[in-house]
Amino acid sequence: MLSEELRNKYQLIIGLEVHAQLLTESKMFAADANKYGNAPNTQISAITLGHPGTLPKVNRKAIAFAIKMGLACDSEITRHNVFARKNYFYPDLPKGYQLTQDKGPICVGGYVPVQLPDGTRKEVILNRVHMEEDAGKSIHLADEPDTLVDFNRAGTPLVEIVTEPVLTSPEEAYAFLTEVKKLVKYLDICDGNMEEGSLRCDANVSVMLKGTTELGKKVEVKNMNSFRNVFRAIEHEHERLIGLIEAGEEVISETRTFDADKGTTASMRTKEDLNDYRYFPEPDLSPVVISDEWLNAVKATMPVLPRELHKKFVEEYGLPDYDASFLTESKDVALWFDELCSKTQNYKVASNWMMGPVKSSLNDLSFAMEDFPIDTDSFSALIALVDEGQVSYTAASQNIYPEMLKSSGESPLEIAQRLNLIQQSDESSLKPIVEEVLATNAAKVKEYRSGKKGLMGLFMGQVMKKSQGKADPKVATKLLTELLEN
Ligand code: ADP
Ligand code: MG
Repeated sequence: MLSEELRNKYQLIIGLEVHAQLLTESKMFAADANKYGNAPNTQISAITLGHPGTLPKVNRKAIAFAIKMGLACDSEITRHNVFARKNYFYPDLPKGYQLTQDKGPICVGGYVPVQLPDGTRKEVILNRVHMEEDAGKSIHLADEPDTLVDFNRAGTPLVEIVTEPVLTSPEEAYAFLTEVKKLVKYLDICDGNMEEGSLRCDANVSVMLKGTTELGKKVEVKNMNSFRNVFRAIEHEHERLIGLIEAGEEVISETRTFDADKGTTASMRTKEDLNDYRYFPEPDLSPVVISDEWLNAVKATMPVLPRELHKKFVEEYGLPDYDASFLTESKDVALWFDELCSKTQNYKVASNWMMGPVKSSLNDLSFAMEDFPIDTDSFSALIALVDEGQVSYTAASQNIYPEMLKSSGESPLEIAQRLNLIQQSDESSLKPIVEEVLATNAAKVKEYRSGKKGLMGLFMGQVMKKSQGKADPKVATKLLTELLEN
């Protein structure tokens, strides 16, 4: 563990490169299916394999998805796009080159606004978002001397989102990744599944003496398959780099791999033996030109963004920042909630329902919000039942809501009637109960009248008990006060 003093002596700097696999039907340059989990080497046409004489064709939808990402990040959209061959040999790269964007990425600059754990916000500046194709996958089985290769993934469309070196802690990196995942899911361009490799992240890490302006030499860490592991890898590099410098050793620019079991990193290759990829424009593809018309058509498909919904929830519905963040974590939840708010005015109560009972049933029953069995009409009716004092919140959340989850088609009111949960709120039917309670507690009533006002709780408890929990507390209090005070 580093001492506080050493930690404070150096500034940690991180830049992230996030690869997101695009949710297109087919591959970036071929008609093969773009699908995870099929039998190995079943989605590999001659084009994907780069056989001589085959010609790539650009997937229009993949371009539109990359534009969507750029629009969501306020990037500048490049109109004239050229794909380049990045040449290198690797067993999982059937063509011997990867098609990517070398100069002129489709999205330039922009930013992703993130919410940090301490509640503050930061705009993480992007360098670019560019398009490229994925490679295949080498499979190293335990106790097997040979390596297997599956080319199904080869040619999968990707966007690579590259930040400027502006992140300063593992917490910020984690928050940024969380936001990117949320964003691609809102945009419906990537499923964000890290376990399946749909979202992958490389972390570039360096440290520099505080007060200096020149960035330190960076290392690039790969092979982290969860946000948590990105966090751990950065923490580990933070300590390791400071340790090196303090010991008078030199930091070498290198690529390192993360070992999740040990929580450490190890060198894979140094940048000294830097590959010369011999980039050159792909001769078999003409440039992809994005017309105003096309750009406007993509703009028209943009969904409402999490930050816009967040703003609406805070400004229009008057919800706390915390609620708005929770409610916009998932697009399905946010949109459902927004619809609910067109049917009830009791926004904070609606939000409490979401953060309490709804959240726990989504967890317990492992529903996704899209499978949530209650529609916003019924839910607003439930909220109204409590608002009108017809049922208590306790009855609504513990008795009516669970029945509604069974989607029997009964309205909340019908359930309340069937379960005998309607509160007694008309004074004439509650008055006899209140009178009876006071009559059987004559001594306590005396004490109350001579100043022991705390006894109100006891009377209320008895009224509740006698009414089998159905007395409307507001009406009961009013009646008790009236009868006790005169
Ligand atoms: P390379 O040429 O090694 O690929 P780039 O300049 O293209 O490096 O940057 C790749 C990533 O590394 C970007 O996310 C960038 O923000 C980040 N990066 C660059 N320099 C540093 C540094 N000194 N410390 C941390 N991250 C850095
Ligand atoms: Mg790269």
